[in-house]
Order: sequence, then C-alpha cells, then structure tokens
Amino acid sequence: MLIIFGFRINFRTTATIEFFCPRCGGDRQGNQRSARRWFTIFWIPVIPLNQMGEVLECTTCHTRFEPAVAEQPTTASLQVILGNAVRVVTAMVVRTGDHSSAAMRAAATEDVRAVDPTYDEATLTSDLAAVDPAQAEQYVAPLAEGIQIAGKERLLSDLVRVALAGGTVTADQRRVIDLAGRGLGLTAAHITGIVSSVAAARSPEPLPPSDPRSGETT
Ligand SMILES: [Zn+2]
Repeated sequence: MLIIFGFRINFRTTATIEFFCPRCGGDRQGNQRSARRWFTIFWIPVIPLNQMGEVLECTTCHTRFEPAVAEQPTTASLQVILGNAVRVVTAMVVRTGDHSSAAMRAAATEDVRAVDPTYDEATLTSDLAAVDPAQAEQYVAPLAEGIQIAGKERLLSDLVRVALAGGTVTADQRRVIDLAGRGLGLTAAHITGIVSSVAAARSPEPLPPSDPRSGETT
C-alpha cells in the first residue's frame, strides 16, 4: 500500500488588531496568525510540528506581513499623538518666552486649536505649569516615522511663528525648537533653515548685516 505523506503549513488566527497596512496605505483590520508546520498523511495534517512564527494578515488585501508592521502607529493614533505633541511643544515655546505676552498666548492658543478645537487660554495656562521644556524631543519622537517632511516643517514653522508673536525667538525657545526638530529626525541645518525662513517671511525688509546703509536701528 502506498502511503502519501508530506508537510504543510497551517495558519491559525490568534487576534485581530487595527494596524496601518503598508500595501493598502491606510488603517485596516489585521489578523495576527501563527503558522505551524504539520506532518500530513494523504494531505491531512495529523501531527503538529514546529511553530513557524507569526504573521499579520491584512483582512482587506490579504497581504501577510512581519508582525513588526503593527508597531507602526495607525493613522488614527498618529492624529492623537500629533495633537498631543503640538499642544505640549507649543506650551513649551510659550513657557520659554515672555509668557505674559498676550500676542504670543493668542498665537499659541490658535495654533493648538487647529488640532484640538476645544483648546483655550485657560488650558494653555495650566499646560504652562505642567510642561518640562527639556522633554520636547521625547514628545515629538513618535512622529518621526509617521509624518511627512512637509508636516514636520509645518509643525516647526508654527512653533517659530508662536515665538515670534512674542517679538523674538529667545535662546530658550530656540532650544525647544531645536529639540523638537531633532525629535522629528531633522538635521540641525534643516531646523536652522526653517527658523530663518519663517523669521525672514515675517520681517518685510530684512537688511543684510553687511549693508553699510543699515546703520544702527532700534
Ligand atoms: Zn492591506
């Protein structure tokens, strides 16, 4: 009698999670599936053999990924992280400047409203007491992978504008902006470029320091 035996790999779904599917380019349901090799007789799995590891399978496009794909934040969670980061880092910029400046506080409140429409000056006041400007880098770091360069530049530009609403970018404010830029994965040169282009756009006639006609101004 001829016995036909062989091996096959069976997948078993262990959990369903929401993840960002790189193939679909959006948030999807994914099945976490563990793979196991089976010994088969007449194509029927009879003896479970070794575990082959886990995969994450998109329920929409059915692509199988390494489980590490799930470590990328989803679009929905990125929105939450972005909202928190903008709020916290903006408060840090206000705190490290002249935070009695009504213009700067108003600019900061308006800036955060773009990500959280309920934000107001009272919340800003309590945020000012709560934030530690030395931690700017840690707050934005989860965004480094998830948002595009244009989004990072916009975030930093907004911080510079908030600082400038108070008159000037103080050294401490610049430090917060540098830390935030570094957390986002931008180079020092890139950060300096963003700061100077926002500052230049604000002053209508920037006079080069070498211009002899600029003289002493107040
Ligand atoms: Zn997919």
